[in-house]
Amino acid sequence: MAKTPQQSPATIIPRAEHCISRSQMSEQAIKVLYGLKKAGYQACLVGGGVRDLLLGREPKDFDVATNASPEQVKDTFRNCRLIGRRFRLAHVGYGRNVIEVATFRANLEPESDEDVHVENGRIIRDNAFGCIEEDVWRRDFTVNALYYDISNFSVIDYVNGYDDLKQGILRMIGEPTARYHEDPVRMLRAIRFAVKLGMRIEEKTEAPIFELAGLLAEISPARLFEEVLKLFHSGKALQTFESLRHYGLFTPLFPQTELILSQEAEGFPHTLICEALKSTDTRIQAGKPVTPAFLFAAMLWEPMQEKMAPMLEQGMPAIQAIQAATDQVFSVQRRSISIPKRFAIMVKEIFVLQARLMNRSGKRALRTLEHPRFRAAYDFLLIRSIGDDSLAEHAQWWTEIQTCDNAGRESMLLPNENKKSRRRRKPKIKRTDG
Ligand code: ATP
Ligand code: MG
Repeated sequence: MAKTPQQSPATIIPRAEHCISRSQMSEQAIKVLYGLKKAGYQACLVGGGVRDLLLGREPKDFDVATNASPEQVKDTFRNCRLIGRRFRLAHVGYGRNVIEVATFRANLEPESDEDVHVENGRIIRDNAFGCIEEDVWRRDFTVNALYYDISNFSVIDYVNGYDDLKQGILRMIGEPTARYHEDPVRMLRAIRFAVKLGMRIEEKTEAPIFELAGLLAEISPARLFEEVLKLFHSGKALQTFESLRHYGLFTPLFPQTELILSQEAEGFPHTLICEALKSTDTRIQAGKPVTPAFLFAAMLWEPMQEKMAPMLEQGMPAIQAIQAATDQVFSVQRRSISIPKRFAIMVKEIFVLQARLMNRSGKRALRTLEHPRFRAAYDFLLIRSIGDDSLAEHAQWWTEIQTCDNAGRESMLLPNENKKSRRRRKPKIKRTDG
């Protein structure tokens, strides 16, 4: 059972005893905290902002918690809009500087009224507002439940989060099984924070995950798309992938991929995915952009190949087979994770270009070079070619041709074998008329 506030008075860590200073916060976060305070509300920085600053890391974003209702937040700031239906929040600011402001949530009392709705242990709607002493028990991990109070710059700790943070322990607040039932995405969050922050998942928090992983099947594919991006675009995708598989959480996310990985004898697809994730990690660490399309291409390449094989055997042309197989793989994948259309198109283009990259002759090869998705497809070929000599030779050729000028490119083109063989096969027409 979750401890009640009465059982656990807060530990207050005064300004002099912690390392958080306002100079480490974004300008927008400070504006929001002081804006709320000035309007007479309680305002705290909470979640990842406090956690990461205490760890000496740069926070990804700043989240604010307050006793002002979403409407009161909206009335306090000009640049504020309310979002979410089932979990109403206020967003203050624009673009990259949005601060998420959450009103303190109340204790969950199932069937209480229309603001809160819990069904089979799952939180469906959560808009009953309360005070900080209630809100704290609604948060996921102890290290995510520390409040930095703008009124006196102290850190308020109801759940021993400060000690857990110092010891590198990720501990669920309350009874972990019930908390995973309330929201199965918390299992993915456990993996994400453990990997990102190098923390150990405490035993009672860890144990139920193996059995409850399947609950993820009930989460909306759109939410899982967002979560999967956070997991794999964190800069530690490879470690995350291995951890997800360890806990059985990869299966509900990418069932077709897991099936192939579990059947695999020589380890090739595993290599492809690992190499792709390594490359994503390297790009993120170097501050280079990444696209979800590359992630989905890596995860779905082998499942697509498996679907395509019988189509090729039946004589379907390669490109048509790739397109048909990709559609089939997408339709299964979308039951667990939605793939926004623009990324789905990109994945298909990367796949089709894999076939076109096998052709190094004539104008068609030059046209492949001009394709808007050439770069992504070429990067994908490089990953596929690791440990495969014949693909590596193709990849090398495409690497070189990019460095040539137009004349150099023409000279690199291989003879057009199709044309030659067509010419050879063409029967000579005998003139019989004279
Ligand atoms: P990140 O660095 O990814 O932003 P974060 O801990 O700030 O990590 P957010 O998703 O921004 O994560 O959420 C902010 C805070 O809201 C969390 O720290 C946690 O206290 C609470 N929270 C978010 N999602 C959940 C959830 N599914 N269940 C319970 N509490 C949650
Ligand atoms: Mg956050």
